Amino acid sequence: MAASVRCPICGKEVPINDPNMPFCGDRCRVIDLGNWASEKYVISSPRQNELEESDEPFESAEGRDH
Ligand SMILES: [Zn+2]
Repeated sequence: MAASVRCPICGKEVPINDPNMPFCGDRCRVIDLGNWASEKYVISSPRQNELEESDEPFESAEGRDH
């Protein structure tokens, strides 16, 4: 059941080993970047309450359990 995540933009399921993770593709990733650029999130407390990244290693190679 840990084999996929949901694209935060369109909600489509994305394989956890997809290079575009957590986005379903380049398009949604660009859209997300656009959101950031346009809404100008205030980053006061880095990675604490803004993103609820539990324990998914986004950049550490491939941390996927069966
Ligand atoms: Zn998407």
